[in-house]
Amino acid sequence: MKKTAAVLGGGIQGVCAALMLERHGFDVVLIDRAADVLRRASLTFEGKIHLGFVYGMDRSLRTGLRMVDDALHFGPILEQLMATRLPWARLRSRRNVYGLVRDSQLSRAEVERYFAALDAECRASLAGSDLHYLGERPDRLFEPIETPPWLAADRIAASFRTEEVSVDQVELRRLIVEALRARPRIAPVLGHAVEAVEPSAAGFVVRTRAADGTPRRIESEIVVNCLWESRTRVDRQVGLPVEADYSLRLKYGLLLALDDSLAAIDSLTLIHGPFGNLVVSPAAGTAFCSWYPSSLKGLIPYGPLPAAWEQACDGDVAPALRRELAEGNHAGLRQFVPALVPFEVLKVTAGVIVAQGLRDISERDSGFHSRCEPPVVARDGYYSVNTGKYTSAPRNTRLLEQALFA
Ligand SMILES: Cc1cc2nc3c(=O)[nH]c(=O)nc-3n(C[C@H](O)[C@H](O)[C@H](O)COP(=O)(O)OP(=O)(O)OC[C@H]3O[C@@H](n4cnc5c(N)ncnc54)[C@H](O)[C@@H]3O)c2cc1C
Repeated sequence: MKKTAAVLGGGIQGVCAALMLERHGFDVVLIDRAADVLRRASLTFEGKIHLGFVYGMDRSLRTGLRMVDDALHFGPILEQLMATRLPWARLRSRRNVYGLVRDSQLSRAEVERYFAALDAECRASLAGSDLHYLGERPDRLFEPIETPPWLAADRIAASFRTEEVSVDQVELRRLIVEALRARPRIAPVLGHAVEAVEPSAAGFVVRTRAADGTPRRIESEIVVNCLWESRTRVDRQVGLPVEADYSLRLKYGLLLALDDSLAAIDSLTLIHGPFGNLVVSPAAGTAFCSWYPSSLKGLIPYGPLPAAWEQACDGDVAPALRRELAEGNHAGLRQFVPALVPFEVLKVTAGVIVAQGLRDISERDSGFHSRCEPPVVARDGYYSVNTGKYTSAPRNTRLLEQALFA
């Protein structure tokens, strides 16, 4: 008998879910309101495959340990879903140096203890398994180092070389789209916004509407909701409990040409507080930066996205804001990397972060420090997947698979 699934949202999570369902013999309809898949939060950001280092403020360790496991599953599960080996060397950025800022929210001793716990988790997970971190199986996740000469020593209390890298999300997108196109049982329905999901005799009816007002009705046995910022609105419609108190953050980032001052440094993440990071990707000839105080432009309670946020996420950025972001990011990061020359901005990106609570990153009990809710919630053929992080999407898909077929 034909098995049918509707996957709502064609970001990294929806695409992984669609590939997994297709492998199980489903005819999949992949619905997105954008004109193509992988165009929103899953494109052109840091692309960091988190090994947990930035989540030291979650004292329970749950977020950090989850990130290590999600990161070690990222490559293996993605390769399985795409049925191909991925060219990790070409996709990886330079490794991150972590700079512990002098007025960090955590002390050096706390950070070292925390990093050691991540390292132990990584070793335990790698032992006796085929897991890997983007093609590598590191012996050790971090080591304390002298502060590198390119980093302002007067502002840094301690430096650590780590194994953590970012992936080139644009190139990875290209490879994922190729894999999707090779699977005729996955039918994209693009340019259609999901308006409602209703139970029906066959399972569910998904009602969508195109930008020109054309409605469409899609029947399927199961529904997988991967709508990111719109996800819990649809969950509520079908009566699924939404326990977390989510909020939405609008954050910008800058894709930069790799000038000599950037080519001379490692990727950099500054912890713990409202600082930022730099991703250096020689293979792509680019860098990426996001200085938190300049780049966070909105924090609101969960609800519909303001029209201006939608426009920003669709790439509509006024020249004055582009200038302000370039100058603010450069000034902020130059306090730590004094040799940085003014940035040549190739692209300004904006995205929505779904996290808990309205407390900002500078507050110790901010929900922003925690990403460890159960990723899959299900009822009667309806599955809702809370991506959490780009890093987590493949492993979330394994958990979804277990929920569906266990
Ligand atoms: C600035 C920024 C930096 C980040 N950096 C990192 C990082 O370095 N590492 C990391 O692991 N994570 C990072 N994240 C988080 C990560 O980007 C997200 O967790 C992840 O991309 C979410 O994937 P997704 O598929 O759920 O969402 P998306 O990629 O946004 O996909 C959801 C899809 O649903 C569609 N959609 C939404 N509403 C509707 C509707 N009503 N009808 C139809 N379609 C709809 C959208 O068009 C979109 O294509 C960052 C996020 C941001 C914003």
